Amino acid sequence: MKRCTKCVLPETAPNITFDDEGVCNYCHSYQNFDYKGEDKLIGLLEAQKKRNNKYDCMVNISGGRDSSFTLLKLVKDYGMNVLVVNYKNSFTDPQARANIKNATEILGVDLVTFETKEGVAEDTFRHSLNAWLKKPSPAMVPMMCVACKNMWWDTIKIAKKHNIKCIISGGNPLEESSFKKELLNVSRDSGVDSHFTSTIKGIFSEISKNTDYIYYKQLHIMIWGFLFGNQYSIGPKIYGHDIEKIDLFHYIPWNEDEILSRIKNELNWDYPHHLESTWRFDCMIGHLKDALYMKTLGMTEKDEFYSRMIREGFLGREEALKRLEKENRLHWDQVDILLKRAGVDNSSVLVDLKNL
Ligand SMILES: [Zn+2]
Repeated sequence: MKRCTKCVLPETAPNITFDDEGVCNYCHSYQNFDYKGEDKLIGLLEAQKKRNNKYDCMVNISGGRDSSFTLLKLVKDYGMNVLVVNYKNSFTDPQARANIKNATEILGVDLVTFETKEGVAEDTFRHSLNAWLKKPSPAMVPMMCVACKNMWWDTIKIAKKHNIKCIISGGNPLEESSFKKELLNVSRDSGVDSHFTSTIKGIFSEISKNTDYIYYKQLHIMIWGFLFGNQYSIGPKIYGHDIEKIDLFHYIPWNEDEILSRIKNELNWDYPHHLESTWRFDCMIGHLKDALYMKTLGMTEKDEFYSRMIREGFLGREEALKRLEKENRLHWDQVDILLKRAGVDNSSVLVDLKNL
């Protein structure tokens, strides 16, 4: 498969073009990330300490590498009194749960866990998957996660309950997916907080082509999911208008080696080694999304993540290609477990997915 000669994006990436040297248009328009700086972060954190609340801030944790490191950094390096919040769904990987337990015990911090009403995540997931299979479209792969997109509503509610005015997440600019924006006809160069309206327009245009996605029984979950999709969405902006929402890696550079070595040594953190990747194993739906992207687009989120790492100078192209060969293998065994957990008639669905 032809790939960009500078990054590793394949010729199947949406709206990709190459120049005479084989360099892609994503590379040409890419702007290196401008970090806000650790001094600015420390200033924000010090202001929270001065409030003398029981907790200085809240940290969202999934058990994955970035959120575990964020918690470690806030408690150990910045001396913050942290309330840890975890959204637990039925599809959380057991290792991610073990990581949360280890991290909170080792750091001696309080943990609040919340989940959606019993069966709702499974129900909406089954519905989205059935709709998707009727008309497979890479643009609609994120619909598999629609139930969990409500988590910012509960997160802010918990912050309000504990009088917390600052929520810190392990959001990483390298994880922004330009290809997902392109699939919805949103400019890939639009910023995290400026593309909300065009994304919604793109999603509605997709839904108009496949109205099976509309699920009246869980319509409120879908609407809430669109409003509260992430901390930059309109929901958190209004409901949590007086709460600072910080992504750690918008202030300090994301350093994979430092993150992995510190969380392994200091938090006893681990990943499921058979999956061969330390990234995005925390929810099992991730394995299905990889399969859906690969089958419809010939790439996964990892192709873009490693392309961004190359452009930022964090990774060599050869190393990225090696990683993709290993990490883009599809884990059908995990998809099988996921389908069983979600109560999908998995024998026929699994065959349908493999035959896409
Ligand atoms: Zn490129």
